[in-house]
Amino acid sequence: MSTIRIAIDGPSGAGKSTLAKAAAGALGYLYVDTGAIYRTIGLHILKEGVDPENEEAVSAQLPRLQIDLRYDGGQQRMFLNGEDVSEEIRLPEVSHYTSAVSALPLVRKFLLEMQRELARKNNVIMDGRDIGTVVLPDAEVKIFLTASSQARAQRRMLELERRKTPQPYKDVLREIEERDFRDTHRDAAPLRQAEDAVLLDTTELNFQESKAALLQIIRERTDP
Ligand code: C5P
Repeated sequence: MSTIRIAIDGPSGAGKSTLAKAAAGALGYLYVDTGAIYRTIGLHILKEGVDPENEEAVSAQLPRLQIDLRYDGGQQRMFLNGEDVSEEIRLPEVSHYTSAVSALPLVRKFLLEMQRELARKNNVIMDGRDIGTVVLPDAEVKIFLTASSQARAQRRMLELERRKTPQPYKDVLREIEERDFRDTHRDAAPLRQAEDAVLLDTTELNFQESKAALLQIIRERTDP
Protein backbone atom coordinates (compact mmCIF):
# COMPACT_ATOMS: atom_id res chain seq x y z
CA MET A 1 0.00 0.00 0.00
CA SER A 2 1.41 3.39 -0.88
CA THR A 3 1.94 5.99 1.79
CA ILE A 4 0.65 9.55 2.00
CA ARG A 5 3.34 12.19 1.86
CA ILE A 6 2.90 15.77 2.97
CA ALA A 7 5.79 18.08 2.08
CA ILE A 8 6.18 21.35 3.98
CA ASP A 9 8.89 23.76 2.90
CA GLY A 10 9.69 27.31 3.82
CA PRO A 11 12.28 29.64 5.33
CA SER A 12 13.76 29.47 8.84
CA GLY A 13 11.47 30.34 11.70
CA ALA A 14 8.19 30.16 9.75
CA GLY A 15 6.93 27.73 12.39
CA LYS A 16 7.28 24.69 10.14
CA SER A 17 8.49 22.31 12.86
CA THR A 18 5.93 23.24 15.50
CA LEU A 19 3.05 23.25 13.05
CA ALA A 20 4.09 20.12 11.17
CA LYS A 21 4.52 18.26 14.45
CA ALA A 22 1.08 19.34 15.64
CA ALA A 23 -0.55 18.39 12.33
CA ALA A 24 1.23 15.01 12.31
CA GLY A 25 -0.09 14.37 15.84
CA ALA A 26 -3.64 15.24 14.78
CA LEU A 27 -3.47 12.99 11.68
CA GLY A 28 -1.42 10.12 13.16
CA TYR A 29 1.41 10.60 10.65
CA LEU A 30 5.12 10.39 11.28
CA TYR A 31 6.72 13.82 11.55
CA VAL A 32 10.15 14.13 9.97
CA ASP A 33 12.15 17.27 10.69
CA THR A 34 14.81 17.19 7.95
CA GLY A 35 16.47 20.37 9.29
CA ALA A 36 17.44 18.32 12.37
CA ILE A 37 19.19 15.79 10.10
CA TYR A 38 21.16 18.56 8.36
CA ARG A 39 21.89 20.09 11.76
CA THR A 40 23.43 16.81 12.92
CA ILE A 41 25.97 17.06 10.09
CA GLY A 42 26.50 20.77 10.89
CA LEU A 43 27.24 19.87 14.52
CA HIS A 44 29.74 17.20 13.55
CA ILE A 45 31.59 19.60 11.23
CA LEU A 46 31.65 22.27 13.94
CA LYS A 47 32.98 19.81 16.51
CA GLU A 48 35.69 18.56 14.15
CA GLY A 49 36.83 22.12 13.41
CA VAL A 50 36.31 21.60 9.66
CA ASP A 51 35.68 24.57 7.31
CA PRO A 52 31.95 24.10 6.46
CA GLU A 53 32.42 25.63 3.00
CA ASN A 54 35.24 23.29 2.01
CA GLU A 55 33.43 20.54 0.12
CA GLU A 56 36.42 18.21 0.02
CA ALA A 57 37.07 18.47 3.75
CA VAL A 58 33.37 18.05 4.59
CA SER A 59 32.95 15.07 2.25
CA ALA A 60 35.95 13.37 3.88
CA GLN A 61 33.94 13.45 7.11
CA LEU A 62 30.78 11.82 5.71
CA PRO A 63 31.98 8.19 5.93
CA ARG A 64 32.72 8.81 9.61
CA LEU A 65 29.14 9.85 10.30
CA GLN A 66 26.48 7.58 11.68
CA ILE A 67 23.20 9.47 11.80
CA ASP A 68 20.12 7.87 13.35
CA LEU A 69 16.59 9.11 13.83
CA ARG A 70 14.66 7.58 16.70
CA TYR A 71 11.17 8.32 17.91
CA ASP A 72 10.44 8.69 21.59
CA GLY A 73 6.72 9.21 22.27
CA GLY A 74 6.25 10.73 18.80
CA GLN A 75 9.24 13.02 19.41
CA GLN A 76 12.05 12.83 16.83
CA ARG A 77 15.49 12.49 18.42
CA MET A 78 18.79 12.72 16.57
CA PHE A 79 21.79 10.52 17.28
CA LEU A 80 25.27 11.28 16.02
CA ASN A 81 27.62 8.31 16.23
CA GLY A 82 25.44 6.85 18.97
CA GLU A 83 25.15 10.04 21.03
CA ASP A 84 21.83 11.86 21.52
CA VAL A 85 22.46 15.37 20.15
CA SER A 86 18.80 16.51 19.91
CA GLU A 87 19.38 19.55 22.15
CA GLU A 88 22.90 20.44 21.02
CA ILE A 89 21.90 20.75 17.34
CA ARG A 90 19.67 23.73 18.26
CA LEU A 91 22.54 25.95 19.40
CA PRO A 92 22.79 29.15 17.32
CA GLU A 93 26.37 28.44 16.13
CA VAL A 94 25.17 25.10 14.75
CA SER A 95 22.58 26.93 12.58
CA HIS A 96 25.31 28.83 10.79
CA TYR A 97 27.42 25.72 10.13
CA THR A 98 24.34 23.81 8.99
CA SER A 99 23.34 26.43 6.46
CA ALA A 100 26.88 26.30 5.01
CA VAL A 101 27.22 22.49 4.83
CA SER A 102 23.73 22.04 3.44
CA ALA A 103 24.69 24.12 0.39
CA LEU A 104 27.14 21.36 -0.62
CA PRO A 105 25.72 18.97 -3.27
CA LEU A 106 27.52 15.96 -1.75
CA VAL A 107 25.88 16.53 1.62
CA ARG A 108 22.43 16.76 0.02
CA LYS A 109 23.05 13.57 -1.97
CA PHE A 110 24.21 11.82 1.21
CA LEU A 111 20.85 12.53 2.89
CA LEU A 112 18.48 12.11 -0.04
CA GLU A 113 17.91 8.35 0.18
CA MET A 114 17.55 8.44 3.97
CA GLN A 115 14.68 10.93 3.65
CA ARG A 116 12.97 9.04 0.81
CA GLU A 117 13.20 5.76 2.71
CA LEU A 118 11.29 7.26 5.66
CA ALA A 119 8.50 8.34 3.31
CA ARG A 120 8.32 4.93 1.65
CA LYS A 121 7.65 3.20 4.95
CA ASN A 122 5.34 5.69 6.70
CA ASN A 123 2.65 8.27 6.11
CA VAL A 124 4.76 11.36 6.69
CA ILE A 125 4.69 15.07 7.19
CA MET A 126 8.21 16.05 6.23
CA ASP A 127 9.48 19.57 6.65
CA GLY A 128 12.54 21.20 5.11
CA ARG A 129 13.63 23.39 2.23
CA ASP A 130 13.48 21.10 -0.82
CA ILE A 131 10.98 18.41 0.15
CA GLY A 132 8.32 19.34 -2.44
CA THR A 133 10.87 20.21 -5.13
CA VAL A 134 13.54 17.48 -4.78
CA VAL A 135 13.04 14.89 -2.04
CA LEU A 136 9.34 14.05 -2.63
CA PRO A 137 8.39 15.69 -5.94
CA ASP A 138 5.31 13.41 -6.13
CA ALA A 139 4.06 14.24 -2.62
CA GLU A 140 0.25 14.15 -2.34
CA VAL A 141 0.23 17.57 -0.62
CA LYS A 142 2.82 20.34 -0.83
CA ILE A 143 2.72 23.42 1.33
CA PHE A 144 5.02 26.42 1.30
CA LEU A 145 4.86 27.91 4.77
CA THR A 146 6.18 31.40 5.25
CA ALA A 147 5.92 34.62 7.30
CA SER A 148 7.67 38.00 7.20
CA SER A 149 11.30 37.94 8.38
CA GLN A 150 10.33 40.26 11.29
CA ALA A 151 7.59 37.91 12.48
CA ARG A 152 9.94 34.95 12.15
CA ALA A 153 12.67 36.73 14.13
CA GLN A 154 10.19 37.54 16.92
CA ARG A 155 9.14 33.90 17.17
CA ARG A 156 12.72 32.60 17.05
CA MET A 157 13.67 35.04 19.81
CA LEU A 158 10.93 33.64 22.07
CA GLU A 159 12.03 30.10 21.27
CA LEU A 160 15.67 30.93 22.15
CA GLU A 161 14.49 32.47 25.43
CA ARG A 162 12.60 29.28 26.24
CA ARG A 163 15.71 27.25 25.47
CA LYS A 164 17.69 29.52 27.86
CA THR A 165 19.95 30.76 25.03
CA PRO A 166 18.51 34.28 24.54
CA GLN A 167 19.79 36.58 21.77
CA PRO A 168 18.96 40.22 20.93
CA TYR A 169 16.26 40.79 18.28
CA LYS A 170 18.61 42.48 15.81
CA ASP A 171 21.04 39.52 15.90
CA VAL A 172 18.23 37.01 15.42
CA LEU A 173 16.81 39.02 12.50
CA ARG A 174 20.23 39.31 10.86
CA GLU A 175 20.86 35.58 11.25
CA ILE A 176 17.47 34.75 9.73
CA GLU A 177 18.04 37.09 6.78
CA GLU A 178 21.51 35.65 6.18
CA ARG A 179 20.17 32.11 6.21
CA ASP A 180 17.28 33.06 3.92
CA PHE A 181 19.77 34.51 1.47
CA ARG A 182 22.04 31.48 1.57
CA ASP A 183 19.17 28.94 1.41
CA THR A 184 17.53 30.66 -1.59
CA HIS A 185 20.69 31.49 -3.54
CA ARG A 186 22.60 28.20 -3.36
CA ASP A 187 22.91 26.14 -6.55
CA ALA A 188 22.07 22.80 -4.93
CA ALA A 189 18.34 22.46 -4.20
CA PRO A 190 17.68 26.12 -3.32
CA LEU A 191 14.67 27.01 -1.21
CA ARG A 192 11.77 27.84 -3.52
CA GLN A 193 8.06 27.22 -3.67
CA ALA A 194 7.18 24.19 -5.82
CA GLU A 195 4.78 25.12 -8.63
CA ASP A 196 2.09 22.86 -7.22
CA ALA A 197 2.55 23.92 -3.56
CA VAL A 198 -0.11 25.81 -1.62
CA LEU A 199 1.20 29.02 -0.05
CA LEU A 200 0.42 29.52 3.64
CA ASP A 201 1.57 32.86 5.07
CA THR A 202 1.33 32.90 8.88
CA THR A 203 2.53 36.49 9.50
CA GLU A 204 -0.89 37.54 10.80
CA LEU A 205 -1.93 34.16 12.25
CA ASN A 206 -1.41 32.79 15.75
CA PHE A 207 -0.49 29.16 16.36
CA GLN A 208 -4.06 27.82 16.55
CA GLU A 209 -5.11 29.67 13.41
CA SER A 210 -2.03 28.47 11.54
CA LYS A 211 -2.62 24.87 12.65
CA ALA A 212 -6.28 25.01 11.57
CA ALA A 213 -5.30 26.45 8.17
CA LEU A 214 -2.64 23.77 7.68
CA LEU A 215 -4.98 20.92 8.61
CA GLN A 216 -7.66 22.28 6.31
CA ILE A 217 -5.25 22.33 3.35
CA ILE A 218 -4.16 18.75 4.10
CA ARG A 219 -7.65 17.35 4.67
CA GLU A 220 -9.06 18.96 1.52
CA ARG A 221 -6.39 17.16 -0.49
CA THR A 222 -6.24 13.78 1.24
CA ASP A 223 -9.85 13.02 2.25
CA PRO A 224 -11.57 11.00 -0.45
O1 C5P B 1 14.82 23.83 9.52
P1 C5P B 1 16.08 24.30 10.24
O2 C5P B 1 16.12 25.77 10.45
O3 C5P B 1 16.35 23.51 11.47
O4 C5P B 1 17.25 23.93 9.20
C1 C5P B 1 18.58 24.31 9.44
C2 C5P B 1 19.29 24.54 8.11
O5 C5P B 1 19.39 23.30 7.42
C3 C5P B 1 18.59 25.48 7.14
O6 C5P B 1 18.98 26.83 7.28
C4 C5P B 1 19.03 24.95 5.78
O7 C5P B 1 20.24 25.54 5.40
C5 C5P B 1 19.28 23.49 6.02
N1 C5P B 1 18.24 22.62 5.48
C6 C5P B 1 18.28 22.29 4.15
N2 C5P B 1 17.38 21.41 3.62
C7 C5P B 1 16.42 20.87 4.38
C8 C5P B 1 16.32 21.22 5.76
C9 C5P B 1 17.26 22.10 6.28
O8 C5P B 1 19.15 22.78 3.44
N3 C5P B 1 15.57 20.00 3.83
